Amino acid sequence: MTAALGPPRHLVFLGPPGVGKGTQAAELARELGIAHLSTGDLLRAAVAEGSELGRAADGHMRAGRLVPDELVVEILRDRLRRSDAAPGYILDGFPRTLAQAKALEQFAQLDAVISLELDPKVLVERLTGRRLCPQCGSVYNLATRPPREPGRCDRDYAELTLRPDDRPEAVEVRLQVYEKQTAPLLEHYRRLGLLRPLDASGTPAEVAERLRRLLRVGPGREPGPGSPKDRRSR
Ligand code: AMP
Repeated sequence: MTAALGPPRHLVFLGPPGVGKGTQAAELARELGIAHLSTGDLLRAAVAEGSELGRAADGHMRAGRLVPDELVVEILRDRLRRSDAAPGYILDGFPRTLAQAKALEQFAQLDAVISLELDPKVLVERLTGRRLCPQCGSVYNLATRPPREPGRCDRDYAELTLRPDDRPEAVEVRLQVYEKQTAPLLEHYRRLGLLRPLDASGTPAEVAERLRRLLRVGPGREPGPGSPKDRRSR
């Protein structure tokens, strides 16, 4: 499944809540022309729709606990079948347990697992400072990416909101759940030779730059004149 040339196209972004997985995954996916698949976003959409799955997931999510494996695996497996995932994908927030990782191995083959790493104190600041636009989905952070006008979206001026699970009580549970249930995946992927650690400190632009160097993508790595890809396309 791995392309012989070019950047990896089947990626997992692993890391604690608040580390910036969503921000980095969205941008890299757009740049590489692959799908950004966040199980958190898929579940929030199901909750907003009021579907059976959404009703089953809602209470777990509000409390900061994981949604049961079989529900999340099913939603992800379905999503991977859609055509926009055919060129590749970044899985953001999946897998979160060893059982999910094993299930994923039955229907996907990964090129790399990027492990975003950050000091726990900074994580809490990032999570409790996160604000969302309920209309367009833009994500802000009071510390690192504030809106131009306090409390208002830059794009549509909607009033920004706090995600229910970014409340301090839920944040604490989410960090504990990560340590207990998700952190063991680091060792799993290290053993498989897929793990690529990434320092997630600093601004989103700084992290993006490190990520591109790690994956060898970006302006410095575009095929130049005379490269095999460039010759083929002429
Ligand atoms: P996220 O947006 O990735 O922080 O996810 C928000 C919430 O959705 C999590 O706290 C869980 O309740 C749920 N969730 C997202 N992805 C998963 C997953 N892979 N397994 C179980 N629960 C998940």
